[in-house]
Amino acid sequence: MLYGAIEAGGTKFVCAVGNENLEIIERVSFPTETPEKTMRSVIDFFKKFETLSTIGVGSFGPIDVKRESETYGYITSTPKLAWENFDFVGHLKEQLNNISVAWTTDVNAACYGEYIAGCGKGLSSVVYYTIGTGVGGGALVDGQFVEGFSHPEMGHAMVRRHPDDTFIGNCPYHTDCLEGLAAGPAIEKRTGTKGQDLPPEDPSWDIEAYYIAQCAYNTTLLFSPQVIIFGGGVMKQEQLRKKVQEQFAKLINDYVKYPDLSTYIVTPQLEDNAGVIGCLALAKDLYLQA
Ligand code: ADP
Ligand code: ZN
Repeated sequence: MLYGAIEAGGTKFVCAVGNENLEIIERVSFPTETPEKTMRSVIDFFKKFETLSTIGVGSFGPIDVKRESETYGYITSTPKLAWENFDFVGHLKEQLNNISVAWTTDVNAACYGEYIAGCGKGLSSVVYYTIGTGVGGGALVDGQFVEGFSHPEMGHAMVRRHPDDTFIGNCPYHTDCLEGLAAGPAIEKRTGTKGQDLPPEDPSWDIEAYYIAQCAYNTTLLFSPQVIIFGGGVMKQEQLRKKVQEQFAKLINDYVKYPDLSTYIVTPQLEDNAGVIGCLALAKDLYLQA
């Protein structure tokens, strides 16, 4: 029995199949192009596996996660125009013999992966953010994703500007939101250098940490989670996590007592596999529920 995983990102897609221990058996990755082109590669990959039971999808969005909605399973108002109103789940079902599909956001999937098999294992309340090309967040309480009329959009929460930051911001919708000030492209536009090429002692990392620390601060006050996980390319900067922890402690100013920072504000234990393993776990849950 095999489970399928699709981590559908704005830059690249990762498809994988895994077994019931959530071990990845085969994994492929390709760039995100048009739905026609990219979904062809997705379908061709999964068609090879005859014992595939269910598929878990973690998708970039916004997406429609409301089961009663007519457009459930669609990518909705995404800035990636070719994907706007694309019936992702419908397409998979149509092409893969009406397969059952677990459908959630890319960050929820990564959050679930860490909850099942990473640094959220054994905990009941886990929040996950990615700081990459964009910023997104997902939250889990007792195994259920936090949602209301739709999924959260935690990456666009407002933040207070760092006094030394003159960068105008990079979000077309909001002036001072987290994504617009702290995602990878904001770092590049602020400094003229991609994050991966900036030296760790560059003063702009203090600005970056200030924004992520505010995110941790708000997350703490809103959810009181047991762990806050920060993933994504930007968090590959070791020094950044430390700076975030320090600035977070200053912002909270001992108002609430939180877990030890070394276990509270962390990077993903599953590293780049959090999303794929989360998708496999969602596929497995779906199979076991049926
Ligand atoms: P995506 O968000 O597209 O899934 P990533 O999480 O890798 O992909 O995010 C890409 C962004 O992260 C880019 O803006 C890139 O400049 C930045 N980035 C990637 N690696 C690093 C690194 N080691 N240090 C700082 N920034 C990085
Ligand atoms: Zn925004």
